[in-house]
Amino acid sequence: MTILVTGGAGYIGSHTCLELLTAGYDVVVFDNFLNGHEEALRRVEKIAGRSLRVVEGDIQDKVALVHALRTYQCTKVIHFAGLKAVGDSVSDPLPFYKNNVFGSITLLDAMAECGVKSIIFSSSATVYGDPQWLPITEDHPLTVKNPYGRTKLMVENILRDLFHADPSWSIGILRYFNPVGAHPSGLIGEDPRNEPTNLMPYIAQVAVGLRPYLRIWGDDYPTLDGTGERDYIHVVDLARGHLAALAALGAPTLFSVNLGTGESHSVLEMVDGLKHASGREIPTERHSRREGDAATCYADPSFAKSLLNWEASLGIQEMCRDQWNWRVNNPNGYDT
Ligand code: NAD
Ligand code: UDP
Repeated sequence: MTILVTGGAGYIGSHTCLELLTAGYDVVVFDNFLNGHEEALRRVEKIAGRSLRVVEGDIQDKVALVHALRTYQCTKVIHFAGLKAVGDSVSDPLPFYKNNVFGSITLLDAMAECGVKSIIFSSSATVYGDPQWLPITEDHPLTVKNPYGRTKLMVENILRDLFHADPSWSIGILRYFNPVGAHPSGLIGEDPRNEPTNLMPYIAQVAVGLRPYLRIWGDDYPTLDGTGERDYIHVVDLARGHLAALAALGAPTLFSVNLGTGESHSVLEMVDGLKHASGREIPTERHSRREGDAATCYADPSFAKSLLNWEASLGIQEMCRDQWNWRVNNPNGYDT
């Protein structure tokens, strides 16, 4: 079975391509390399001992999508491609609506034209807004606080409308909590092109000496140690969640599931974890809260377990070990 993976050269996409190849799927990556790396795909092939096909293209280009779907006879799509920097989405929203919303509509249009009606979509826990209860279940109200989140919710709604109009589609909406870590080989990992805004890549860059200190955004939250708490999930667990979701797309269906661990860890716990994994000092500076941040957020992952027979198996120790392993072996990412 051949899977078209949009955004397959990115962080989560590359780890998922590796799991797909290892499980015996044929893979066609469709990526414009705006934030992805060809080197990541070469390394995926190296680890898997199998090759994949790469089509350089933009998901806003329907002709290119139809061509890729037909040429390689793809039967299912995993759709990662998009922009994800929340701050950029506030200062410059139009590229987000073009890439994430128009790009997704174009992809669905191309799929419909080719009779390919199975898709997994990368959504995010950001669609829950400020948690009204914890752990967050899939029936939590959906509200968003920034244009990035709005694009995710818009595409979710488009997918729901599409399914209601044509129930022959198979649609899996996966709401990721906080993906971290890297493949244990240390060959692939997250390689942000700009200064990271997410916690774990930032801590790893401090540990390796690329940045002087970590700014802790708020130490007066009503949490165990005052710093923000999140549901960090190892990217390999997350990638495997996509394979479980793919298996559930055999018949027409529409589902939305949380991919998280059900546990939360504070900023200070993650700093300690990386300190331990690296054996290095991680200087920190305490700052006021970052606008829009919730104190605590974590998933109820039980629906993923019952629907997909998937659950996370890797803990904070493996997350920190692999985050460090990737960064210390590739201090400048794929350009090392
Ligand atoms: P990433 O930036 O590493 O990967 C995205 C990939 O999509 C890149 O390879 C990029 O080159 C490609 N791309 C972007 N726009 C494209 C376009 N118009 N046409 C073709 N390719 C395009 O991001 P990631 O962390 O791997 O995230 C993957 C998906 O998961 C995204 O949709 C993101 O919004 C979502 N998500 C990520 C997180 C996270 O914390 N990383 C959390 C929740 C949801
Ligand atoms: N955080 C921090 N310093 C940073 C980046 C993040 O203290 O440089 C904190 C942030 O306030 C939150 C947690 O780390 O409590 C996770 O932030 P991230 O941006 O990784 O994920 P999100 O807030 O989107 O869940």
